[in-house]
Amino acid sequence: ESKAKKSPWIVYNTALEIDQSETLTLISDLKEAIQQDQLLLYIQPKIDVKTRRALGGEALIRWVHPEKGMIFPDQFIPFAEQTGIISDITNWMLLRACQVLAGFRKQGLDITLAVNLSTRDLNNMELPEQIAHLLSSHGLDAKALKLEITEGSLMQDPERAELVVKKLAAMGLHLAIDDFGTGYSSLAYLRQLPVQELKIDRSFVMFMDKNSGDASIVKSTIDLAHNLGLIVVAEGIENEFVLNQLARLGCNEGQGYFIGKPMPEKDFSVWLQRWEG
Ligand code: C2E
Ligand code: CA
Ligand code: CA
Ligand code: CA
Repeated sequence: ESKAKKSPWIVYNTALEIDQSETLTLISDLKEAIQQDQLLLYIQPKIDVKTRRALGGEALIRWVHPEKGMIFPDQFIPFAEQTGIISDITNWMLLRACQVLAGFRKQGLDITLAVNLSTRDLNNMELPEQIAHLLSSHGLDAKALKLEITEGSLMQDPERAELVVKKLAAMGLHLAIDDFGTGYSSLAYLRQLPVQELKIDRSFVMFMDKNSGDASIVKSTIDLAHNLGLIVVAEGIENEFVLNQLARLGCNEGQGYFIGKPMPEKDFSVWLQRWEG
């Protein structure tokens, strides 16, 4: 049994604005949030770094709490994970993502959306079948949906997670390793998994125009990933200089405030029309 399972009330992040007494209330609130339509799917755009063409986006959750207002995922995903509510959240996000994708397909827009999975999702042997059902009921092919997994989420029960990942890959889903560089696993380990994409964590990208150490890490990660046949995505692009720097380094895709902040579906449609690729 993992440490996280033994002490479900301990929230990892000390920067949380919500204290532990509030946590208990929030957990019961969160259960209601799904039924009461308080969750929102936001989309952050992704582009081709070289051509600047819009490719799609990453689906990010937002919770509009009736009293506290907008709550960001870092404040509830950790305990949603610990209490198991995450499965309901993931299912909700996958359903919404499929609805959004089906809407864009109708307009003839061939974009993709990426959904974040967490540890529990990767230990859920039924997930691949649930996703297959969602895709087919929305008339989508597997290529439309991308799934982002972190190194950490693979580590809890690696054998089980690998099985789920392999099933998802066999269905034709595009898998990405998220937050690369912040975990303990190596590319050598990840190479064994059927993933297509590597997302370099934003902490290495955000200041790469000012910090040559960060720039070196980004450069060597891109080279290594390419040698393994992986697509590289940089997140946390906050200015055009970094975007150009990444283009020179051969980075494939990019995401960040310079390109677009996470936004509601409607605003994303407008962004798609206005973005000059
Ligand atoms: P992530 O998967 O690494 O998502 C990217 C985060 O970076 C987002 O924060 C996004 O707003 C932020 N970001 C993007 N570009 C920039 C930039 O240029 N500068 C800076 N400073 N930040 C940028 P967000 O939306 O608050 O999400 C935080 C984390 O919460 C996500 O990190 C992800 O791990 C988790 N998360 C969000 N939605 C979901 C979800 O539906 N399911 C699960 N399991 N986790 C989620
Ligand atoms: Ca992500
Ligand atoms: Ca990330
Ligand atoms: Ca993250």
